[in-house]
Amino acid sequence: MTPELAGSQVVIEILYLIASVLFILSLKWMSSPTSARHGIWAGEAGMVLAIVGTLMRNGLHDYHMIAIALVLGAIIGVPLGNVAMTAVPQRTALSHAFGALCVTLVGSAEFYLRTPDISRFMMSVLSIEVILGGLTITGSLMAAGKLQEILPQRPLTYKGQNFVNFVLFAIAVAIAVTLVLHPEQKALFPFMILLALIFGVLLIIPIGGADMPTVISLLNAYAGLSAAAMGFVLDSKLLIIAGALDGSSGLILSIIMSKAMNRSFTNVLFGAFGQVQAAAAAGEAKPVRSATPEEAAAILSAANRVIIVPGYGMAVAQAQHKVRELYDALTKRGVDVRFAIHPVAGRMPGHMNVLLAEADIPYDRLIEMDEINGDFPQTDVALVIGANDVTNPAARTDTTSPIYGMPILDVDKAHTVMVIKRSMNPGFAGIDNPLYYLDNTLMLFGDAKAFVGSIVRELGGGH
Ligand code: NDP
Repeated sequence: MTPELAGSQVVIEILYLIASVLFILSLKWMSSPTSARHGIWAGEAGMVLAIVGTLMRNGLHDYHMIAIALVLGAIIGVPLGNVAMTAVPQRTALSHAFGALCVTLVGSAEFYLRTPDISRFMMSVLSIEVILGGLTITGSLMAAGKLQEILPQRPLTYKGQNFVNFVLFAIAVAIAVTLVLHPEQKALFPFMILLALIFGVLLIIPIGGADMPTVISLLNAYAGLSAAAMGFVLDSKLLIIAGALDGSSGLILSIIMSKAMNRSFTNVLFGAFGQVQAAAAAGEAKPVRSATPEEAAAILSAANRVIIVPGYGMAVAQAQHKVRELYDALTKRGVDVRFAIHPVAGRMPGHMNVLLAEADIPYDRLIEMDEINGDFPQTDVALVIGANDVTNPAARTDTTSPIYGMPILDVDKAHTVMVIKRSMNPGFAGIDNPLYYLDNTLMLFGDAKAFVGSIVRELGGGH
């Protein structure tokens, strides 16, 4: 190696080292709303350094193809960065599909370049890379299609489904083992990828729309693990570190989400949750009490303590700025206003924190579920804005409910509960909410943004 080459190798290693540190810091900072922005910047800076280091690698001659790939990537990536907050889960699934496609293509290229002189260890890692990559491509596309409602959300099940899936996966693994022992049997390689691609589709078919975000985060873990495997194949420590971080954070996130919904992994993956929901949704109409914006404003301004519970409906209505005005108007009148954050309110973890932070609501007013639940009995008004499942008391009391055991916000224990939603329609889990029929509950029917806006006007606030 010439001195210049050795010098550039050192620079590359240093760039990779800094990138790895930035990725680790990025994850750490993203775990708190106060430092989340720094986390995003650290992740972006790390990625830029990783790309620069890779472009400096010895052996790259044709930069034209790379330039075309960068332009194509930007053309796809820029619109993906501009989707509505509610579409972030499916957007994330698409990113996983692209990442996994890249991993699978690189793995395939390496296989054909190296065989038959490939070590058993390398062939094992390469098989893990393309099997995980292949199933993540189609699995993520299916998940994105279901969430975007291009594909039917309800789970498609048939007898012996898990067995069929298992057999298919077992055949792919058997091919991998054969290739490890006899890498010269090149013709088997495409079948292994094909089986992984089919397995990805079959894996997602029986899972209902409500479980998709958890599944996407699991696919995140698979994509990360396949990228780490690619790191071994390409002898890149940076890829191993980044893949391992991606894989473990995806897994941890899936566990947090499953816990917050009181579901086990096996139940998410094999439980066909959505079917129960459809059956439970049909119920006869029961009477509820409703109120007008004027009445709601009067009740709120007479209160000392108010807890606002935001949910998916606030996100859809983009009501967070109006909610901020309501917070200002009530605080000005001396009312103590806090926000109760359920870990799975909305459609992705941290959904409510991001929206409320966007509206500049102080972080110290956002209180996590475990911390605030004990305060509801001393609260004058719990104002639920577009949240449903995360407030459903059936999760505490009704053993037959599909969400039984899911930790919820105990809003029903407040002196008065007011619920802003447009109708009596159910939320994501597709089940009725007994909260709405309680004596201390008032329904405020309307769009979240419009209704909160009317209350703010009644209180004499807003712009
Ligand atoms: P839900 O989906 O239970 O309920 C949202 C409610 O918002 C609906 O009942 C709907 O009623 C109302 N709504 C919709 N649009 C508007 C609007 N424009 N104005 C006013 N209200 C509106 O939401 P939650 O946040 O309570 O619960 C989240 C659900 O998502 C849980 O079941 C959770 O398990 C699931 N989930 C969440 C994940 C996460 O990471 N956050 C991941 C996986 C699943 P109406 O139509 O009558 O207006």
